[in-house]
Amino acid sequence: MNKGTKITLAVAIASVAGVLIFWKRKEITYVVKKAVDKTVKVVTEIVLDAQTEAYLDTLHPKFRRDAEKFIKEARKEGHYVYITSAFRSFKKQNALNKAGKTGAKGGQSYHNYGLAMDINSSRPTINMKSDKATWAPIVKIARKYGFTWGGDFSTGYDPVHFEKRYGLHHTKLLAMKNAGDVTDGFVNLG
Ligand SMILES: [Zn+2]
Repeated sequence: MNKGTKITLAVAIASVAGVLIFWKRKEITYVVKKAVDKTVKVVTEIVLDAQTEAYLDTLHPKFRRDAEKFIKEARKEGHYVYITSAFRSFKKQNALNKAGKTGAKGGQSYHNYGLAMDINSSRPTINMKSDKATWAPIVKIARKYGFTWGGDFSTGYDPVHFEKRYGLHHTKLLAMKNAGDVTDGFVNLG
């Protein structure tokens, strides 16, 4: 073997080794990345605040399931949504009506059947004063779960309000309640 051949052979061996090391590195990088992804997944598990959890507990079980999914998805999307009002008794509804805070009397609001909730977002701040465009990303998620948005009400802009009617007008819900068609205080929705 002359000197030229030796050098060529050495370069060839070095190249193969280099490729192998590179390939191995890539594999190691991939494994590390996978481990990191796993960690991130655990960290981003959504835990709701105590106030929202407490309000969720006051809602109709069927509504509650979708409400929780909606709020958790909104939080995953970066909107720190929390509940400010949920179930409301007829008595409380009448008091709010008397105070001029709502047009609905006891029995006329979906809140009275555990089928409505009011929400805000604290990060970023989104509330009653926010316009339709600001609410849009949250409303988009709500619609996925079948919620009717108070921002669309012709009776008055109520963007914090989200309800589900399950095809039943509040007069029908009242009739069912009065007829005793209820379980644990909530109208049977089937
Ligand atoms: Zn409301």
